[in-house]
Amino acid sequence: SNIVAIVGRPNVGKSTLFNRFLERREAIVDATSGVTRDRHYGKSDWNGVEFTVIDTGGYEVNSEDVFQGEITKQVQLAVDEATSIIFMLNVHEGLTDTDQEIYEMLRRANKPVYIVINKADSAKEELAATEFYQLGIDKYYTLSSATGSGTGELLDDIVKDFPTDEYKDPFEGLPKITIAGRPNVGKSTLTNALLDVERNIVTDVAGTTRDSIQTLYNKFGYEFVLVDTAGMRRKAKVKEDLEFYSVMRSVRSIEYSDVVIIMVDATLGWESQDMNIFGLAQKNRKGIVIVVNKWDLVEKDTNTTRDFEAKIKEKIGQFTDIPVLFISALTKQRILKAVEVAMEVYENRAKKIKTSKLNEVMLPVFEATPPPALKGKYVKIKYCVQLPTPSPQFVFFCNLPQYVKEAYKRFTENQLRKHFGFTGVPIEIYFRQK
Ligand code: GDP
Repeated sequence: SNIVAIVGRPNVGKSTLFNRFLERREAIVDATSGVTRDRHYGKSDWNGVEFTVIDTGGYEVNSEDVFQGEITKQVQLAVDEATSIIFMLNVHEGLTDTDQEIYEMLRRANKPVYIVINKADSAKEELAATEFYQLGIDKYYTLSSATGSGTGELLDDIVKDFPTDEYKDPFEGLPKITIAGRPNVGKSTLTNALLDVERNIVTDVAGTTRDSIQTLYNKFGYEFVLVDTAGMRRKAKVKEDLEFYSVMRSVRSIEYSDVVIIMVDATLGWESQDMNIFGLAQKNRKGIVIVVNKWDLVEKDTNTTRDFEAKIKEKIGQFTDIPVLFISALTKQRILKAVEVAMEVYENRAKKIKTSKLNEVMLPVFEATPPPALKGKYVKIKYCVQLPTPSPQFVFFCNLPQYVKEAYKRFTENQLRKHFGFTGVPIEIYFRQK
């Protein structure tokens, strides 16, 4: 997966460019997903090449005195994590010392850096932009955030420079699980606890791209790979105190994985950052298990788990058919249960329903509860198939697909879940004309 990070001083226009990248696609792809749109990262594509965009400014601390330290940290993290870096400058403010410093860091990175001069809306400003040659660069791109002009040329070059060396998966065909969550939620503790269960049963293989590590487990009656990017078990190069860093890492691990264990801190509850990770996993159609960690710290009575789970499900939207577990990575309570449930979700995601069985079950359901008639027209669902995709997707052939509303799609999804069991797995449903 390619990650494009946008870096630069505050207010140079990072978020505007970020939104431009996203809006074309979000309008088309995500209009119906029901996922809260995150403001700081998302998927985009150019000429059919997909990439993830991160607006590092979304994580900015807006206080002047901490700013200097924060910006260099963010730039360093972007350098560590991203495939390509857009360095944004603002023609109205000219070249500043901070810009020079940032560029110095970027120059040393062994990654493509694109200098983008924003707000160059007129010929006069285009001329003023030449000031930035002082950085010692050969090329820059001028953009107008107002009109969006200039983004095409930039994207052409970015996509062209994406690394082409295809990642060779040493564990192809095995279930890939990742543990995602906010900093300090207990990811490393769980990873280590799983490792310690029996040291001799794991194999670390450093990935051939960047610094991901995959650990093969063939114990507990299962064989699976824990995807661990940027060395969770190693000391992070930079102290992991930035949301932005954990998001970048999550993006990569999630894309590699089949199942995402979203770890939540029992003492903090479900927060917006957990929602972001959830949204990422859902958008990427990965299996999801929610694990509430540090359960040892919570004072419990009979309804505590039930109430905690209900609160989470209230917040995550429509897709609530997800296992929620309460564990303590520290005391190793129920950690193997977490693995077991993750494997069940893996099986659910890989499940393929035979066409004959699918029709045998679903057609009577539609017969009994047809889509409501619209303007005197009746929708007749004739036939359905599951597509051969990595995550479950179903096509329902009917006479008038445009008359099938969201509520009925949800009904169909719930019926599929009820009859076939897809707990923890996002399902995609399409109604098509036969
Ligand atoms: P990470 O940033 O998500 O990898 O989090 P760590 O694994 O480094 O854990 C952060 C802190 O939480 C450490 O001090 C852990 O000892 C502590 N911690 C992790 N899991 C638990 C747990 O289940 N119970 C308690 N009480 N503390 C935990």
